[in-house]
Amino acid sequence: MTLFPDLVRSVLSESIIGRAQEAGHIEINAYNIRDWSDNKHRHVDDTPCGGGMGMLMAAPPIYRCYEAVVADKGAEERVKTVYMSPRGTTLTEGVAKRIASECDRLVILCGHYEGVDQRIIDEIVDEEISIGDYVLTGGEIPACILVDCVSRLRPGVLSEAECHEVESFENDLLEYPQYTRPIEFMGRKVPEVLLSGNHKKIAEWRLEKAEEITRERRPDLYEKYAERKAAAEAEKEAKKKRRQMYAEMARKKKAESNEV
Ligand code: SAM
Repeated sequence: MTLFPDLVRSVLSESIIGRAQEAGHIEINAYNIRDWSDNKHRHVDDTPCGGGMGMLMAAPPIYRCYEAVVADKGAEERVKTVYMSPRGTTLTEGVAKRIASECDRLVILCGHYEGVDQRIIDEIVDEEISIGDYVLTGGEIPACILVDCVSRLRPGVLSEAECHEVESFENDLLEYPQYTRPIEFMGRKVPEVLLSGNHKKIAEWRLEKAEEITRERRPDLYEKYAERKAAAEAEKEAKKKRRQMYAEMARKKKAESNEV
């Protein structure tokens, strides 16, 4: 739900998201809130109560638009309504995964001007989502970002090959450096190990680089990764000790029964 449906349509009709719509894996519709205005000038904004600068998007046209958008909602369909807002939960890969799994239809309200009347948020919005600590002129670009990262998590949107790529933020690690041909570019060579054909060594190199980059650029992420890695290693060690203990017990039992 937006004042600029063409902006949203043009961004989301290209590339992977465009193809996913053509193939029927996802459906994206952009609704112009002005179509639900009740005046001949198609105004949907008004001055803020209590004074102040700028204009606010009024609640009634947004509500009528929302009713039309969800009019065909199926009985079992899970609908989630999000308002793009700088004061919302910051969008991360984890938030995108949660949203992708908790609804079948995502309704997104894009604000403009100084934002929207609080009562429309209270009435229809389940969650406010921010794309970062900065202020944009409208919610359309944030909405496109949310649609893009949620859509690529839906079945069929990415090809088989794309699905199996290890992306940044998997396991709290940023991605390792990637290279393609030519083998030498401006005197810079592709690291030898990637041309070795030794898959074990390549995997080790990639993990090492991912750890290095994450440690340097995102110490907060690296801390989470290191904690999980330490816990997994401790669990592995405990399992090994338990196996040794059971083996020892079995060995003693066998020796005792042999003595009898
Ligand atoms: N007065 C609002 C405030 O101070 O929080 C800012 C309004 S902003 C100029 C207009 C609209 O852009 C917002 O209603 C929201 O939909 C969108 N927007 C701006 N920055 C955003 C961000 N970081 N994340 C998500 N949406 C944003």
